[in-house]
Formats: sequence, C-alpha cells, structure tokens
Amino acid sequence: MNQLSLSRNASDSLKTNGNPAFAPSLDTVQQVDINEREFRRASQSKSERWTLRTPTKRDIVDRLGRVSAEDALRLKNCCSAFRVLTCGEHTLRSYPTFRCKKLFCPDCAAERATRLGNQTEAKIREVMKTTKGRLCFLTLTTKNAATLGGGLVKLKKSFANFKRKKDFKNHIKGYFGAFEYTFNPKTNDFHIHLHLIILRGKFWNQSDISDAWRDVTGDSFIVDIREIKNAHKGVKEVCKYPMKPTDLMEMPDDKFLEVVRMKKGTRMFVSGGCFYNVKLDDDDAADDNIFSQFAELIEGDACPFCKQELFDVLVDRGQHIGLHKLNAMPATVPKTNSS
Ligand SMILES: [Zn+2]
Ligand SMILES: [Zn+2]
Repeated sequence: MNQLSLSRNASDSLKTNGNPAFAPSLDTVQQVDINEREFRRASQSKSERWTLRTPTKRDIVDRLGRVSAEDALRLKNCCSAFRVLTCGEHTLRSYPTFRCKKLFCPDCAAERATRLGNQTEAKIREVMKTTKGRLCFLTLTTKNAATLGGGLVKLKKSFANFKRKKDFKNHIKGYFGAFEYTFNPKTNDFHIHLHLIILRGKFWNQSDISDAWRDVTGDSFIVDIREIKNAHKGVKEVCKYPMKPTDLMEMPDDKFLEVVRMKKGTRMFVSGGCFYNVKLDDDDAADDNIFSQFAELIEGDACPFCKQELFDVLVDRGQHIGLHKLNAMPATVPKTNSS
C-alpha cells in the first residue's frame, strides 16, 4: 500500500464520513520512518524519492547540536517513543509521546503536510461545488533575501498590496497558499516564494500577472501560473515541507540558527476570497491521529480484525517501525456473522 493511496483514503473517509471499505490507518508510520529507507522506497512514488537522498533526522540532530544543544535534544526526543494500540498482530493506532512541532523536523513536517493536505483538499472540493472557476497553481517569487525574516516580511507586504489590486480582484475568486524557502549556499541567501492555489474566474495571462507583481514588489517579476489538473497533487504541492532538509544542512550557523529560532506562530499560510474558509488548523493541539478510523477504540476492546483483546503499549522508535513492518493488515474488516 503506498502513501498516496493512504492519504487519499484518509481524505475520502473524511468526505464520506466512514467508508465501510476502509484501509488501516498507518499515517503515523509514514511520518516517522524517515530513516527506514527500504520501507520508504516501497511506500513512495517516484516524485517523492528525493527524500531518500536527503539527510536523515539524525544528521539534522547532529548538525543542530553544534549550534544549540537544547534544540537538538528536543528534536532528538521528538517521535522517539510511541503509544500503540495493538492486539499483537494488528496495529490499530499509534502516536508519538512527544512532538517538537518544529518547522525543520522531518517527522513533524511530514505529519503536518499530510494533515493539512487532507483538510485543505476536502475544503476546496466543498467550495468548488458551489463556485465556478478554474483551479490554478500560482507561484509568486521575490528576489533573494539575506535573512529569512526580512525576506518573509517583504513577500507578505507585497502580497498584501497585490491582492488589493483591481486586476487581482477581477480575475481571482479565491486563493489559499503557503510560503516556501530555499537556501542558496553559493550566494548565502534565501529564496522565498509563495505557492498559491487560486480559483480563477476570467483568464489572466502570465505576462499581465508578472507586470502587476512587479508593480507591487518594485524589483521582482518572476511568476508562474498553470492550471491544476489534479487537485490532490496541487494541494500536496502547497502543503509540503516549507524547506528541504538538504538546504538546512548547507546553511552556515547563523542562517541555520535563524531558521531554528523562527518565531512560533509565524504565519505560514494565506487564504482569502471564496477560499477564505480554507482555514488551516495548524495549532499545536491538533491531534496527531485525527484520520485514524480507529480513534474510538480503547484498551480492552476487541480487535476489529481478529477479535483478540487490544493493549495500549509504549514502544520506542525501533520497535514501532518493527511493529508496523510485521503488520500485513487485511484490507477490510471481516464480517462478524460467522460466530
Ligand atoms: Zn518533531
Ligand atoms: Zn488483531
């Protein structure tokens, strides 16, 4: 079972409120097995295999340890232990005992991307039932910035002015999007851009968008607009990691520390127009496992697959990976009429 079909199942069950032919929820295992190359190779599509060449969480912890021991310890502890609800044969639910919720943590970033992606896709589909238009992917870029904070402020200000423009309002019915950063080690600066999913009413061509964007930024005009054929992929692109771990490893200490210390609550998302209600639930309290179909099961209940008693156990990262690896869960719950 690959990751794509799992996350689709997750969003499907969200939409249909309990599809009986559900697949087991293994969201969590996909989030934590960054080190498990084999597992990931089997569970990832080609386009996602870049993660195989990226640094592992341990690499990032080591790198972070050189600039901040405290932050490194938090990162190390994140997803190091799990509470698992299991019958011994089937794993029905699992979640980490501690999450660092840091932007640069591969475990937390992956969890966040999955969760936000599923929420967003469901909400966009909802809006598009009643509002007509073309779903497009719009990328707005700015010139490279020496600091992440400075660059972000500039891009946010430019976008605030951009969306006030008459042209914007005439062509775009709704938008939602996220900021993304890349780092250029040669020039030692950040490239910050905004990925947006827009609902376009009237056609708006790229050169006109570019002119309008130059108008508000003063010096930046590189924009890209294309129609989205697959809403699922489009949403995934917007909700993915805001920063690649490879970039993180190439930063000098001062830049690295800036990313690590970036203020909590720094707004990562924008939304407006008919997508105004695409509010992304990105707070710390968000449940790690809200897409689990087994959320209501507790210790002592019977396993829906084999009817054995369920136990709530605490396992470490290695055991957790092992538990999931051993599991070959049936695709559907067997009917209970044989007894
Ligand atoms: Zn984390
Ligand atoms: Zn079982």
